[in-house]
Order: sequence, then C-alpha cells, then structure tokens
Amino acid sequence: QRHKLVVGNWKMHGSHAANAELLQGILASRPFAAEAAVCVPFPYLSEVAVTLANSGLAWGAQDCSVHEQGAYTGEVSSVMLAEFGCRYVIVGHSERRAYHGESDQLVADKAKVALARGITPIVCVGETLAQREAGETAAVVKRQLSAVVHALGQCIGEVVVAYEPVWAIGTGRTASPEQAQEVHALLRAQLAAATPRASEMKLLYGGSVKPDNAVTLFGQADIDGGLIGGAALKASDFVAILRAAS
Ligand code: 13P
Repeated sequence: QRHKLVVGNWKMHGSHAANAELLQGILASRPFAAEAAVCVPFPYLSEVAVTLANSGLAWGAQDCSVHEQGAYTGEVSSVMLAEFGCRYVIVGHSERRAYHGESDQLVADKAKVALARGITPIVCVGETLAQREAGETAAVVKRQLSAVVHALGQCIGEVVVAYEPVWAIGTGRTASPEQAQEVHALLRAQLAAATPRASEMKLLYGGSVKPDNAVTLFGQADIDGGLIGGAALKASDFVAILRAAS
C-alpha cells in the first residue's frame, strides 16, 4: 500500500502575512493523515524552511535551473535549494511549459539535476484540451514521461509524477476519477517497463482538486494523492484535502 502525498503548489501567490497564516492553519491540523508538502515561491523558501523545520510538513520549490551555477541571470539552482534542505521541486508544470517554452528534454534534465542533489522532482505531465479532443492524451503524456525515463534511467523510481490535464488547471473542471485513473494506469504501466519500483511510485493528480472531489479521486487505484493549486491557498480547504487522502 502506497502512502498518499498531498502537495500544495502556491504558484505566484503569497506574502509574509498570508504565508504565516496559511501555514499556522495547516499545522494546527496535525497529525496529518497523509504526507504533506507545500511548494512556495523562491523569496519565501528560507523563511518557510525555518517555520516548517521538524513540523511534519515538507516544503519544496516550483522550479529549478538545469544548471548548477553560472551566468544564468534570474535562475535558481538545485544546489542552492539543497543547501536549505529542500525536499521537493516541481518540474515541467504546464505553466512553465506554456509560458516559458520548457521542452520535454529540458524538463527531464531539470529532474535529473534535482535528483542528483537529493531533491525529489515532482514531474508534471498532461495534455491540453485540444490534444484530448484530438484523442492524443495517451501519446502526449507518454512522450512527456518518456523523456524523463530516458534521462534518469533506473533513478526514475525516485521521482513523483503528477498528471495534470491542462484543461483542468484553475478551471474548476476536474477530470473525472475515471478519466484520471485511466491516464494514471497508463503512466504506471510505462514506468513499470522502466523500473521494478513502479508499483511503489507516487502518481499525483492535479487540476481543480477540491475538498468535495478529493475523496473519489484519491480512491482510484493508481492515484496516490494530489498536486493542489487554488485550494492549497486556504488552510481549511488544504486540510480537508489532506484528510481525504487518509
Ligand atoms: P488548481 O488546483 O488551481 O486547478 O491548480 C492545479 C495545479 O496546477 C497544481 O500544480
């Protein structure tokens, strides 16, 4: 039995005051029913790291550079993140792929550098609405995951994969539990061809997960938790989703 993992992706939201209130609200609900983490904007990382030290709530970043250091203005390396004890880093979120032109190869390389520094990459894959309507869902997620499998080899067993259909992100239009499970099963089969650890790997679903749909989503055979956007910004919602993951 895989333990569930629920990760809040704060995206570009937050402030000193809002973060403190949100974290206190989440921490007040301990002990958590599932493994829990928050992925916060870079400027708040060190502060959040202090707040969450030994709290049972892990933290991570939302991206990292593919480089370890050098003349890359505006970038943050996995080496720097590792110095603070960063546990997770999201790579290949669809917003990075869409707005920053991140390719499958770049995403795979980022996962590799993060893992080399002991940070667990949360690798996001997912199709757009046009791709789903064209019947390309399986091919798209397979291509996205295959770049990572290729780059990591046997180490693929150490990543977390998040299936986030682009059409479900921030739209309130969640994938049905059956739609999500269907893709998760494909992803797990693809991973099983690459590593004997596929059955232990965590596959998260993301895209309009809310307290009222989390139980059925997390009840699917290959859904091991969620990557939560909007609902991760309100302590009571995030806590309710965590409870759904017990
Ligand atoms: P929403 O939960 O706001 O749809 O966002 C999902 C997401 O992109 C998490 O990474």
